[in-house]
Formats: sequence, C-alpha cells, structure tokens
Amino acid sequence: MSRADRDRAPAVAHAPPNGDDAVVADRDWLSGADRLPSPNQDARPAGMEVDLLVIHNISLPPGQFGDRWIEDLFLNRLDPSAHRYFAAIAGLRVSAHLLIRRAGELIQFVPLSRRAWHAGQSCFAGRTACNDFSIGIELEGADQIPFTAEQYRCLARVTQQIRSQYPAIESGRIVGHSDIAPGRKTDPGPAFDWVHYRALLTALQTG
Ligand SMILES: [Zn+2]
Repeated sequence: MSRADRDRAPAVAHAPPNGDDAVVADRDWLSGADRLPSPNQDARPAGMEVDLLVIHNISLPPGQFGDRWIEDLFLNRLDPSAHRYFAAIAGLRVSAHLLIRRAGELIQFVPLSRRAWHAGQSCFAGRTACNDFSIGIELEGADQIPFTAEQYRCLARVTQQIRSQYPAIESGRIVGHSDIAPGRKTDPGPAFDWVHYRALLTALQTG
C-alpha cells in the first residue's frame, strides 16, 4: 500500500499487537488509570532505556474540552465528519501513554514499556526519535488556557509513579513537547506552570 493509499485508508480500530515482543507486565499499566489500549504503539528498540518524560497538551476541537474526541483520535476512530477540523487529522496514527482530562481523570492508552507515537520528529540532547526512549503524557488543554489544579495533582502523582519505575527520568529529563520539537510544536505552552508542577513533585518526594 502506498503512503497516499494508507493516508486515505479509513480509520479502523483494531486490537493492540500481541505476541512476539508485546509482553506487558501489570506495572506497565498505572493503577487508577482507565485503560483504552491504542493500536498506535509498538516495541521500543531492544535494550532502550526509558529516560525522558514529555508533557503535551491536546484538545479536540482545539480549545474545547469535555468531549471524547481525543480518545477517538488515539483509537483511530475519529469521525472526520464530526467537525471541520477533524477531516485533516482523522488519518493520523498517534497516541500517548497517558491523558489527564480537565477533572484529573487518568486514561492510559499504551503500556509504559512500549513505544507510544507522541513526539514525532524530535530531538533531546542530540538524540533524535524521542518516542524510542520517552513516555508521553497529554493534558487536556490548550497553550494559552490555564490547566486545572486536579490536572497538576494527577500529573505530579503520575510522574512520581513513573519515576519510581524509570529512575533515569531525572528532573532535567522532564520536558515539554516544544522543547524536543522547537519550531514545530508549542505544547504544553505558556499556560503550563512548570514552577507549580515541580513544587508538587518536590512535595511528593519529601512528604
Ligand atoms: Zn504534543
């Protein structure tokens, strides 16, 4: 199938890959997260250490919250006719490990040990293809709209959980999508309060 054909192919939800390398442990699914396995995942390169956390924001349509379009996008079932914006993105094959909705609800799409498709063309400290070695968290939101207290609390708790499994994710290795794809991506945007987030992380570590 050519790339053009693939891009025109209808979105079909299918089960995530099983067998071969898809050995998923319980700890790959965070406690307290609703599980919606995305087909948009695959194995990380063999032996690759996970040592980067990438914070994103997303809203569909942009700037609108509360619907289930983000889940539909990550499950390849977004209805391109439901909104004029969707026609251009319905064929994307993307995912993140986690989504934190406005009320702090946590949804997991990809097991932590596997590769989610969130970073795209990216570079951190001279290493490209950041999906290989990162975990991606989406906050339901927009660059210019403040995130909610519930989202920060959930994000801090989730970060602590992830770092307990992947201690190589040091403080300096928690970045925004805009940091690894500058000029191409702007999220999580100026409304994301890094100082508050890091203060919550510190409080969890010392508390
Ligand atoms: Zn992003």
